[in-house]
Amino acid sequence: MAYPPAFINTHTDILRAAAAEKAARGSKLIVRRTAKSGMIVYMKTQSENTLAADGFVPNKALGQNFLADETVIEAILDAAQIGGQTVLEIGPGTGALTEGLLARASRVAAVEKDGRLCELLFERFGESLRLLHADFLDADVASLVGSGSWHAVGNLPYYATTPIVLRLLPLLPQSMTLMVQKEAAERFFARPGGRVYGPLAAYAQCFYQIESVLSVPRSCFSPQPHVDSAVVRLVRTAVFVKNPAGFMTFLKQAFSMRRKTLYNNLKRDDRLPDALRMLGCPQDVRAEALSPDILLALYRRLFE
Ligand code: SAM
Repeated sequence: MAYPPAFINTHTDILRAAAAEKAARGSKLIVRRTAKSGMIVYMKTQSENTLAADGFVPNKALGQNFLADETVIEAILDAAQIGGQTVLEIGPGTGALTEGLLARASRVAAVEKDGRLCELLFERFGESLRLLHADFLDADVASLVGSGSWHAVGNLPYYATTPIVLRLLPLLPQSMTLMVQKEAAERFFARPGGRVYGPLAAYAQCFYQIESVLSVPRSCFSPQPHVDSAVVRLVRTAVFVKNPAGFMTFLKQAFSMRRKTLYNNLKRDDRLPDALRMLGCPQDVRAEALSPDILLALYRRLFE
């Protein structure tokens, strides 16, 4: 069933009807709970059987590798250090992390792209979860999380990790606890001159303290991916920027053609030579040679 890209919770009638229809077809989802935490555990064989029994085939194109290890689930929840705040979960899937988040946060909002999973999540959590069926890349996050501070948590789909993080960063959540592919985790720590240094590393390092929390082997997922994962945690520092989205746009432009000088990438902005001189940078410098701090200082000189 296709849902409109709107707040699922405001469409409860549609969802209830869908759940009833599903039950009538005899395909109600069977979930298994652990005695210990009450959390659903998708053990490799169980999850495939359980979900398959409902005709659910994980969508590889959406990076659907579900967490199937309760120890890892607990470790991520502990690392997120949620205690009564608002949390936004990206890609809740079958709800492996969501249940623990709901127990710890004052409010949990989530954005899930797969309508089948939205249906499952609604059956499981009802209206306690503020669920939006949408692509996170187009989602109206501000109206989901409200005006106060909030925290982001997600086991991100591999295929869209970088665009999702680039979308998240300028929203400046108080913290982000993210599981990503191991290689993607390295991007957060990349330093100037490095092969993977770019807008993601520069932006993250300007505004966040970043730590590597956990390595997660591929055997902890179902279905099992081809790569291992890692959990990184980012905690907001006090560094301020007037226009967070503007700084991201600047970085994307600055790094757009890696071989080009910053001057060329910034469309020969005639204010740049002076700004570079003031900051002691060569005129023909490339963005990849500049530290996050210098890039922010340049942005401020040019645009604030
Ligand atoms: N959180 C669950 C877990 O840990 O088991 C699922 C994680 S799975 C790696 C990624 C989830 O993100 C899937 O549920 C997938 O459908 C969802 N997803 C993929 N692309 C998305 C997007 N662009 N916006 C929102 N959700 C997305």
